[in-house]
Amino acid sequence: MSAPHETIVALATAPAASGVGIVRVSGMLAGTIAREFLGTEPTPRHAHFCAFPDRAGTAIDRGLLLWFAAPHSYTGEDVLELHAHGSPIVLRRLVDRTVELGARAARPGEFSERAFLNGKLDLIQAEAIADLIASGSEVAARAALRSLEGEFSAQVKSLTEAVVRVRTWIEAAIDFPEEEIDFLATPQLHADLADLVERANALLAAARVGVRLNDNLHVVIVGRPNAGKSSVLNALARSDRAIVTEVPGTTRDPLRETIELDGVALTLIDTAGLHDSVERIEQEGMRRARCELARADLALLISDDKQAEADLALLADLPANAARMVVHNKIDLSDNQARRVEIGGRVDLWLSAKTGNGVNLLRTELRKLAAGEEAADGAFSARARHVEAIERARDHVVAARDALKDQAAGELAAADLRQAQQALGEVTGEFTSDDLLGRIFSSFCIGK
Ligand code: GDP
Repeated sequence: MSAPHETIVALATAPAASGVGIVRVSGMLAGTIAREFLGTEPTPRHAHFCAFPDRAGTAIDRGLLLWFAAPHSYTGEDVLELHAHGSPIVLRRLVDRTVELGARAARPGEFSERAFLNGKLDLIQAEAIADLIASGSEVAARAALRSLEGEFSAQVKSLTEAVVRVRTWIEAAIDFPEEEIDFLATPQLHADLADLVERANALLAAARVGVRLNDNLHVVIVGRPNAGKSSVLNALARSDRAIVTEVPGTTRDPLRETIELDGVALTLIDTAGLHDSVERIEQEGMRRARCELARADLALLISDDKQAEADLALLADLPANAARMVVHNKIDLSDNQARRVEIGGRVDLWLSAKTGNGVNLLRTELRKLAAGEEAADGAFSARARHVEAIERARDHVVAARDALKDQAAGELAAADLRQAQQALGEVTGEFTSDDLLGRIFSSFCIGK
């Protein structure tokens, strides 16, 4: 955990990646360090253009000095920013100079951790910063920004308040035992509990969409050789100028390719690639192949329309929880119409990669799955941790509703609502352990 009396320093930009580099300092010594560079008292939120002298008074560089006095800063502490030229040598020397003046190198995420500890951000917002930086698509970036701006937090808080209201009512009823049965039997209370369950389920659904937005839709592609797998993917790419993106923090991988389709990121996993990799690097390949398949959200079968029925067996080995989609390709040869049919939860599409007829149906379908229908308006980013806690909160709310309905057991219902409140508090960081904070912030980049 961050020790608040220490002043920390880090580069807030990658050196030499751009013409400018930012050295960020936060903590009690930030003011002393600012005066040392500027030679006079800095004006808060004002850009001073000045030289940045070393210990001997010789300029290391010349640039902008910005001063944010506590609590009006990102971390809530005194913050100094030096905007210098992007030279790794200049930036290294500036960092070294602040260390000479008493700062120490920040750990990953330490600025954001301090912002959280000082109440500048809740945990959802801090996590959203990391998600925004890592976002691989426009939709993911927009969703992370909504979380950062507090939309997800507001929904969690509003549900928490509703839980507390009902709990307080039940506890008051328990405190007046002579009237308890009447109080606990009011239709309004039952309606309120039913409403809580509904709201918890809605929040859970939204958080699940949010997790999906953060983590690309994983599509496993299967099909016989020559069915037209590459052609379909190329047609998809051409029709939308799909961009092959490199998600920050990951290296390119022969098994998978990330494409952005209408601002939504998809990870395509080619089973032929899986097979090659298994042959080449036995153990590691096997493990990876199994991981990739287990993570799949969608199993996409690409068939020659004339053989589609026989190919359906290829879907059998794929994880049961992944959605299924069948592309009947080459309709220009089979004389079928481009169309979409949904049978028992499986979507079948008829198209021709060669003529492009029907390719838009596939684009629309993939985009819908990747982003969720809701993504266009109001989706926010979320993490598996949030989903798990909201699930627990929902289960306790359901248990509270049932306890009152079936046995008029006020004590049980109140205890469950208290646990629901606790679970929701974990999402925003109202209740946390050092352990959890350590895990969350250590995954951040240095300087954030
Ligand atoms: P893959 O082995 O599954 O990746 O299949 P390819 O994409 O390499 O395609 C195999 C062959 O089928 C190539 O000769 C393609 O030109 C042809 N092909 C692919 N899609 C269509 C289509 O919609 N109509 C027609 N007539 N031929 C197609």
